[in-house]
Amino acid sequence: MANCPECETQVIVDEDVEEGQKLDCPECGNELEIVNTNPLELRIISTDENGEGTW
Ligand SMILES: [Zn+2]
Repeated sequence: MANCPECETQVIVDEDVEEGQKLDCPECGNELEIVNTNPLELRIISTDENGEGTW
């Protein structure tokens, strides 16, 4: 489990994720990247600029 750097929502992350893996925050919808696995650390790749990827 890691926290979204944008909204600090707890994001469920698999135990076996690798650095560079991407996921979406379920709360703010930002695309996140795993930058560190121990401890788990996320960074925001992109903010919701054009609505791309937003449903
Ligand atoms: Zn978020």
